[in-house]
Amino acid sequence: MDKLIISVAVTGSWPTREKTPYLPITPEEIAQSAIEAWREGAAAAHIHVRDKNGKVNCDRSLYARVVELVRAAGSDVILNLSTSGGAGAASEEDRLEVVSLRPELASFDAGTMNFNDRIFCNSPAFLERLARRMLAEGVKPEIECFDAGMIYNALRLAEKGLIEPPPFFQFVLGVKGGAPATAKQLMHLVECLPPNTPWSVCAVGPGQLPMNVLAIVLGGHARTGMEDNIYYSKGVLAESNAQLVARLVRFAREFGRDIASPLETRKILGLPAETRP
Ligand code: ZN
Repeated sequence: MDKLIISVAVTGSWPTREKTPYLPITPEEIAQSAIEAWREGAAAAHIHVRDKNGKVNCDRSLYARVVELVRAAGSDVILNLSTSGGAGAASEEDRLEVVSLRPELASFDAGTMNFNDRIFCNSPAFLERLARRMLAEGVKPEIECFDAGMIYNALRLAEKGLIEPPPFFQFVLGVKGGAPATAKQLMHLVECLPPNTPWSVCAVGPGQLPMNVLAIVLGGHARTGMEDNIYYSKGVLAESNAQLVARLVRFAREFGRDIASPLETRKILGLPAETRP
């Protein structure tokens, strides 16, 4: 079993300061939260950015500022920039533009779905453009799948040579409109993958911790963070992303699973060894 890759999704698109005062919003807060989580054991940080009013966007300069601050702190955490633009709230052009920053990883939402009360549109044509752009820029897609059909959308692109091996899957469970966060759903999704394909799982709200623990014991990888869940336990807000990461590190060690460093994660995912940018 590979060492456990812990990803931290520090802010996401939807949580607000009204719901939790601990949410990082500015590039400075987002970078600081990613650095603290890395110090606790996160190998990858999944980044969204917000405007001055806290609304999600795909502003290249905000992303660039987060990247600059993380690297200035001497962190080698793998940066995974979101191309979702808030479940498709941003234009396709803006979502594609994120790739030009050449992060090591960028999210790749592998299909169209109902996403809570909106439609998250990722047409076949857009996915092919996004895959081609990532390939050209040397950016590895973190293939976010909200149900089993999306796995095959990505595998078809891999067969066409547009996603380099090994494809890296992130199952996102418990979103209204996607697969629920249950053990049975997760097992089915894992069984859909070609052998030895690295996968990770995250789940919204109360599904987060159970799905993360399943990943630890099944040999998958785990994503935690306030993007998916602002609570540490029922009715108790998480005070930091680092706190959520620290708990996963403790759990993994109790189960005898070592934690992958960013360098070890690059090897597992087939990324170049050196930190970028
Ligand atoms: Zn995200």
